[in-house]
Amino acid sequence: MGKGGMSHGNSGEEEENMAAWLLGVNNLKIQPFKLPPLGPRDARIRMKAVGICGSDVHFLKSMRLADFVVKEPMVIGHECAGIIEEVGTEVKHLVPGDRVAIEPGISCWSCHRCKEGRYNLCTDMKFFATPPVHGSLANQIMHPADLCFKLPDNVSLEEGAMCEPLSVGVHACRRSNIGPETNVLVMGAGPIGLVTMLAARAFGSPRIVIVDVDDHRLSVAKELGADETVKVSTDIKDVASEIEQIKKAMGAGVDVSFDCAGFNKTMSTALGATSSGGKVCLVGLGHSIMTVPLTPAAVREIDVIGIWRYKNTWPLCIEFIRSGKIDVKSLITHRFGFSQKEVEEAFETSAHGGKAIKVMFNL
Ligand SMILES: [Zn+2]
Ligand SMILES: [Zn+2]
Repeated sequence: MGKGGMSHGNSGEEEENMAAWLLGVNNLKIQPFKLPPLGPRDARIRMKAVGICGSDVHFLKSMRLADFVVKEPMVIGHECAGIIEEVGTEVKHLVPGDRVAIEPGISCWSCHRCKEGRYNLCTDMKFFATPPVHGSLANQIMHPADLCFKLPDNVSLEEGAMCEPLSVGVHACRRSNIGPETNVLVMGAGPIGLVTMLAARAFGSPRIVIVDVDDHRLSVAKELGADETVKVSTDIKDVASEIEQIKKAMGAGVDVSFDCAGFNKTMSTALGATSSGGKVCLVGLGHSIMTVPLTPAAVREIDVIGIWRYKNTWPLCIEFIRSGKIDVKSLITHRFGFSQKEVEEAFETSAHGGKAIKVMFNL
């Protein structure tokens, strides 16, 4: 589709912009990526830190995620931060050289949900690396400037990129009204379980119990501040006994449970472990359809809520990191550069799981 190279006459643009393109199953290639022209409200950003998300790995392994199917080559990546290179004529809050964390989703601002403020539910959302929209694992990207959030001096670009996964935890806590009187259960100690735990603590939760099948993940959760951990199996027959273990570990009622895995078993456990009148928030999307004991939970007036991405979370995430209330640095376990070989290695490292929590590119 090339209509010639970069057309801007600005200095420093002779270099060819490169990006990591998803071309097929297990096929990622660094190739040229032509940017659209700078609009009046846009910013051109040089990427410096990009994290790998479970959804990126899912697209790489199967070219699909839920209803989203990759049909055309697509640039991958959406957890990112960088440095402003150029801004459009109407942009007032940023200048070249500013370090920014980037919110990936561009909503329409004219549909009912957008006008209501719930722009994460926009039916016309254009979100990095959700087909057919290109992502941000590239030397440079173009993005609306209102989705670029300036980082304070003591917040690194990697921490800026971590605002994206952290936003999921922050949005889940807001939806569930977490506060200083909310005892929290977190099902799953993967990256999203951990950021949800960190967010719940920052929102004031006095007691947090986290559950996983993996000892290493539980030890990480403990180091990051979980009050108690419970190791569980993947066998649905263990639900009743594990609910008792969780209740004992909490020592008080569970007010809110976050299911950050999203399987029949984790949701059944969450519904059973939550006290009457509490809430269960589904965060992880393991099974697309679940069979769970909903009726016994409904008659105990447990509210079941879901979340979809996040909205208006970047300023709070940046503040939590700036003030030291949340440490996201400890979640970054692996770092890679931006060469063909390293991109392949990085995605394999993330896909393999094990001791990898967050895999980060430094560009
Ligand atoms: Zn993500
Ligand atoms: Zn909209």
